[in-house]
Amino acid sequence: MITPLLPTYARADLAFERGEGARVYTEDGTEFLDFSAGIAVNSLGHAHPHLVAALCEQAQKLWHTSNAFRISQQERLAERLAAATFADTMFITNSGTEAIECAIKMARRYHWSKGHPERYRLITFEGAFHGRTLAAIAAGGQEKYLEGFGPAVEGFDQVAFGDIDAVKAAIGPETAGILVEPVQGEGGLRTLSVMALRALRDLCDENGILLVLDEIQCGVGRTGHLFAHEPSGVTPDIMAIAKGIGGGFPIGACLASEEAASGMVAGTHGSTFGGNPLACAVGNAVLDVVLGEGFLQHVRDVSLRLRQGLAALQDAHPEAIEEIRGEGLMLGIKCKVPNKDVLAELRERRMLAVAAGDNVVRLLPPLIIDETDVADALERLDGAFAAVEAAAAPGDAA
Ligand SMILES: *Cc1c(COP(=O)(O)O)cnc(C)c1O
Repeated sequence: MITPLLPTYARADLAFERGEGARVYTEDGTEFLDFSAGIAVNSLGHAHPHLVAALCEQAQKLWHTSNAFRISQQERLAERLAAATFADTMFITNSGTEAIECAIKMARRYHWSKGHPERYRLITFEGAFHGRTLAAIAAGGQEKYLEGFGPAVEGFDQVAFGDIDAVKAAIGPETAGILVEPVQGEGGLRTLSVMALRALRDLCDENGILLVLDEIQCGVGRTGHLFAHEPSGVTPDIMAIAKGIGGGFPIGACLASEEAASGMVAGTHGSTFGGNPLACAVGNAVLDVVLGEGFLQHVRDVSLRLRQGLAALQDAHPEAIEEIRGEGLMLGIKCKVPNKDVLAELRERRMLAVAAGDNVVRLLPPLIIDETDVADALERLDGAFAAVEAAAAPGDAA
């Protein structure tokens, strides 16, 4: 018999009741070290006092008004994000997928408004993940998400990740832009090189097309920079963000330059919930902390310690670990043993991490972790890999 909840998830049999910092507690009080952060969402950990205060304060005043009216919290969030990035303007959403959907519509509409309605196609990359709406699964191009849902939304041309020659070859008179994650999350923690990102920017400029970045997972401090593309010196035309900006409250945004947004005039897009006062009060509170002095430096410092520890872990388990990947606190352990077995052993050791494609164990801790949390995580990882290796050792097989 079907459960009252649509069974689209194979859930672990664990339910949490409360959390504090990088720790979460089940209903029976068992403590877990959370290196999943709700899939890069709880950027400031659980029950961060500044976020709790901002949420409670706004909850007592006003939750929602609709976008028929001005929303001061939304205006403030947009002003601050614009000041901190390439963007001149943005649309606030409730999720990452909605931010991507807005980005796709904006890119198409830009060319339409310039008299080129034929330019509606986006070049995307193998291993991409852009969300679960019909357009987003078409953009991601993964068969497991497309199967059974009818003809894929038209207008996406996929090439190998980071293959600049293939991008060049794919650009045609119908191309509107290039959509890419600077660091692939779900695809297995693959980083687009600085050279590749610059080459994509150059190709966009040469062809009059738009560079659209999906920083839904890698943005908002996750890589040790406010946004992952920043060290390249390249700026996008459009960028989708979500996950970390809400710290656990559902909010996303589609940021854009004035030029790229020029087709999106009144009436072309909307959302009932998007950017309501409650969500934006929390988004502003996240920014207070992430933009605070020393915060991103902390992420870089603690990331370096974790990376050094993971390198040592690889040395200790060469039969189980192929490679350490990723940036900042968005790290992946590419496994030679099944990643699912490692995640199960980690759960036995009361630590949460996330699976990723390409047999990777993904580590997405809250950005507020300290060296004690890192040491704790490394110890549990060491135990989990040792257990998986022991179980796989020849002679033990029944
Ligand atoms: C999570 C994610 C999305 C989808 O965001 P939702 O909030 O789940 O809709 C899109 N792109 C990337 C890179 C993501 O990590």
